Parts: sequence; structure tokens; C-alpha cells
Amino acid sequence: MIPLIVCGASGRMGRMLIQAVTETPGVRLAAAIERPGTPELGRDAGALVGLAALGVVLTDDLGAALEQARGGCIVDFTAPAATEAAAALCARAGVGMVVGTTGLGDSAKAALERASAAVPVLVAANFSLGVNVLLGLAEQAARLLEGFDMEVVEIHHGKKRDAPSGTALRLAEALAEGRGQKLSEAGVYARQGDVGPRTPGEIGVMALRGGDVVGEHTAFLFGPGERVELTHRATSRTTFAHGAVRAGRWLAGKPAGRYDMRDVLGLRGPAGSPGRPGA
Ligand code: NAD
Repeated sequence: MIPLIVCGASGRMGRMLIQAVTETPGVRLAAAIERPGTPELGRDAGALVGLAALGVVLTDDLGAALEQARGGCIVDFTAPAATEAAAALCARAGVGMVVGTTGLGDSAKAALERASAAVPVLVAANFSLGVNVLLGLAEQAARLLEGFDMEVVEIHHGKKRDAPSGTALRLAEALAEGRGQKLSEAGVYARQGDVGPRTPGEIGVMALRGGDVVGEHTAFLFGPGERVELTHRATSRTTFAHGAVRAGRWLAGKPAGRYDMRDVLGLRGPAGSPGRPGA
């Protein structure tokens, strides 16, 4: 049984991950980590999510927990600073990392890059099969629909902290790659006031927030007299949780290096394959 550690265990995703670990053959919950001061520390992880006790209590000591997870992985859905700290600990302990946390800054990205020299590291802005297929379709559409204007719109629940979503950035990156562009040069993230006409080649990425929306992403490709819309709608976080646990099972024991969900899902093909995510 591959040992998995859930980091961010009492969060929206963390609770789903605990349940997904119990439902996935071949893996076991080795530890459940939360930040110091969280009221749920000391509670049994199973009881926390309404299951029978699992004999694993929530703790804030990732360093000690990693000792129990040799040959396994952490599954991290926390916050950028926590992911960065975990990267150094995992590299030292020789434990792999599946990272779902989004909004990573340069220093967290650099920490993951350093960790990947010592352990396998898989970062994905989205763990659903559908979104990973969408990324390939978007890249293909961008390549085929020459000259079309491209934009991305995403919608999430009102509690989401980062914007645009990591998935929206990946989607825009896939469009840019289909055109041979760099998102760092083409991306436009706000329009207000007298912004003038749209410049050819720019890719707008806009975020809507509200209610309990799990996650919706649309790539628009506007041409003369026609428009293509490629949309993915997530209706439950369990899709992400099961994908991330499946990724942990797949990643355990792999050589040190960077991986992404297309490796896990067998989607890495010659055509329609967007590049690896930066974070
Ligand atoms: P959340 O706020 O409900 O949960 C985050 C949890 O992490 C909280 O319980 C918080 O206490 C905990 N945490 C913070 N610092 C910590 C630390 N140092 N050690 C341990 N735990 C710590 O948020 P959420 O909706 O579960 O999302 C978490 C992250 O995952 C966000 O970045 C979100 O964008 C991302 N996310 C990614 C995907 C995907 O498919 N990649 C899907 C959903 C959410």
C-alpha cells in the first residue's frame, strides 16, 4: 500500500482527498497535515469527513509525518507558502510531491524546481480528465483557427483566493502555445476605461467570482462571422480529489523530476499537447 500524506487536510479539497484515499485501491492515508492553530488538529481524519475512524489524527508536524511515508507522496492542496515549505522537507526526506495548490509565486515555483532534483514532483492546476483533454483541444484549435481572437473566461466560488485560476492560466498558455506565442507576452488580465481597440495576438483572461461554483473554464476563439467556444464545467470537487490521489499512486517510486497530469492520464501525444505547466 502506497503511503500518501494529505496536506491541507481540513480544507475544502483536503476533506475530499481523505475520502478519495479511502476509496482508492493500493494507497493508504499515512498522515493528515494542517497548519498550526487549526481547531481540527488532533481529530481523527476519518471522523473529520464523516467516515469510520482511520487511526490517523490531524497534525501540524509534516517533518515527522514524512518519516512514515517513505516510498510515498504528499498530496498538497494548501497555500503557496505552505507548498514552498513542504518542498524543502520532501526533498530532504525523499518523499514525492503531488501539488494542486494554485497561485504559486516565483519563490514557491523555484522551491519545487529544486525539490524535483531529489524527488518526483507533479504539479497540476487541474486534476480532472476533462480539463486535461480540453488543454489539448484548445492548443489544436488555436493552431488551426489562424487569425482568430482568443480569450479565456473562468468562474469560481466566492471564496477562491487567487485569480485568474491556475487552470485558466494553463488554458491561456495552451492557446498561446498553439499560436507559437508566449503567454507572458500575450496575456491581458484586466480591461477598464479607454483601453483602445483589442490588439491582434493578445489573449484576455478574465475571472468571475460568486456562489458555490466549483470551476468553469471557457476558451473563446472569435473569427469573422463565427465563434468557437470550448467549455469545461466541474460539478464536484471529488473529480479533482480522485485525480490527485490517482496521481499520487502513479508518482510514487518514479525517478526524481517534473511530471504533469498528462503523464498520469496517458495523454502525452504528438499532436495537441500543450507544454508542461510551470506551476
Ligand atoms: P481551503 O482554504 O479550503 O483549504 C486549504 C487548507 O490548507 C486550509 O485548511 C488551510 O488551513 C490549510 N493550510 C494552510 N497553510 C497550511 C500549512 N502550512 N500546512 C498545512 N495546511 C495548511 O482551500 P481549497 O479550496 O481546499 O484549495 C486549496 C488550494 O488548492 C488552492 O490553491 C486552490 O486553488 C487549489 N485547488 C486546486 C485544484 C486542482 O485541481 N489543482 C482544485 C481545487 C482547488
